[in-house]
Amino acid sequence: MQTQIVQTNLELIQGDITKAHVDAIVNAANNALVGGGGVDGAIRRAGGDVIENACAEIRSREGGCPTGKAVITTAGNLHAKYVIHTVGPVWEGGNSGEAELLASCYQESLQLAVENGVQSIAFPSISTGIYGYPTEKAALVALTAVKDFSEQSSAAPASVQFVLFDDATYTCYEDALRTLNL
Ligand code: ADP
Repeated sequence: MQTQIVQTNLELIQGDITKAHVDAIVNAANNALVGGGGVDGAIRRAGGDVIENACAEIRSREGGCPTGKAVITTAGNLHAKYVIHTVGPVWEGGNSGEAELLASCYQESLQLAVENGVQSIAFPSISTGIYGYPTEKAALVALTAVKDFSEQSSAAPASVQFVLFDDATYTCYEDALRTLNL
């Protein structure tokens, strides 16, 4: 499923993000930028040790990555050139700024992408795994954030993919795209 927002082609794909042929893959990381499970583990396994080495450097220089922010590293053995690591909020019921922090993950990642000349980028569904954010709600936040960025930035990437691992997540994003009339 795909749609066009200004100059950005927005596409929903079901699959494994480590296989994506894009300039940058986004990782759902943690504050310490240390290896985790879920999509983070998959990206690190496929990309190799250089990703951990680059994360260790950022950790020693900046102490990690705050929630809602993003950092960029090499992508090692992946098809992509870069991995953009962003830290989503842990779901605490919805009244702790989760939606704003989640939107910020997408905006900050897209901003870093623009600054690094990235033309195509793939996102997983940030925060909806171990961090427990309800997927229907997260999908609306994620797609709205990408739409807003594309409408506001003339340098927005030409291609934005959401690579969604399982059926249920893919369906939530499809529903959200329809709800938002995109
Ligand atoms: P978080 O800690 O931000 O919740 P997770 O990695 O636990 O991050 O989950 C985020 C989403 O990534 C979930 O929908 C999970 O199913 C999905 N996921 C896990 N592995 C992959 C993969 N290889 N490609 C794409 N998505 C993946």
